[in-house]
Amino acid sequence: MTGITIALSKGRIFDETTPLLRAADIVPLDDPETSRKLILQTNRPDVRLIIVRASDVPTYVQYGAADLGIAGKDVLYEHGGAGLYQPLDLKIARCRMMVAVRAGFGYQQAVTQGARLKVATKYVQTAREHFARKGVHVDLIKLYGSMELAPLVGLADAIVDLVSSGNTLKANNLVAVEEIMEVSSRLIANQAALKLKRGQIQPMLDIFAAAVAKG
Ligand code: ADP
Ligand code: MG
Repeated sequence: MTGITIALSKGRIFDETTPLLRAADIVPLDDPETSRKLILQTNRPDVRLIIVRASDVPTYVQYGAADLGIAGKDVLYEHGGAGLYQPLDLKIARCRMMVAVRAGFGYQQAVTQGARLKVATKYVQTAREHFARKGVHVDLIKLYGSMELAPLVGLADAIVDLVSSGNTLKANNLVAVEEIMEVSSRLIANQAALKLKRGQIQPMLDIFAAAVAKG
């Protein structure tokens, strides 16, 4: 396949990527929020975008169905990064991966006493590694969304989730007690595509890098 396919998710990542794409003279011909198309042509005949679930972006790039992709560090960590080259932190969609509990729950005390914690999260791999590093025994409960509910109804003692403003935690009487990592979105590339299409991809990488540096 000649031309470049870029995988990204709609919502905040698409919105925050639009200015970077424009810097590289890439303008989508449709808006993914209003169009039902999953393949978006652009002003450039050699560049198209595909719209996939945020957590599916690394998979499309890994298998070469997309040459490039844009995915959060949270998603890349869970995926593992096999077959992916991660040349650039785009510094967009920034937030923090945190441990949160119900207000009043004695998290530090539970940790100190060696209690076994029930932790609900979409980010099972990240949570497993975090608590293993701390030497805390956990039972992980996989959820697909609305993690904030779990401690309120007794499903879990703690959650591992992304936090930006903290408003969702506050609205649900939860408090963040520990930061696991800072998260932002990365440009990812299929390793084979990067070799075969270096001439097309490298100038894009250079423009994205310059746009990120300018802020
Ligand atoms: P989805 O609901 O499909 O996971 P989102 O648009 O909520 O998609 O999240 C896409 C990506 O945006 C996440 O993988 C993460 O990197 C980033 N993200 C998620 N939540 C936040 C947030 N509160 N603030 C900033 N970035 C976020
Ligand atoms: Mg979301």
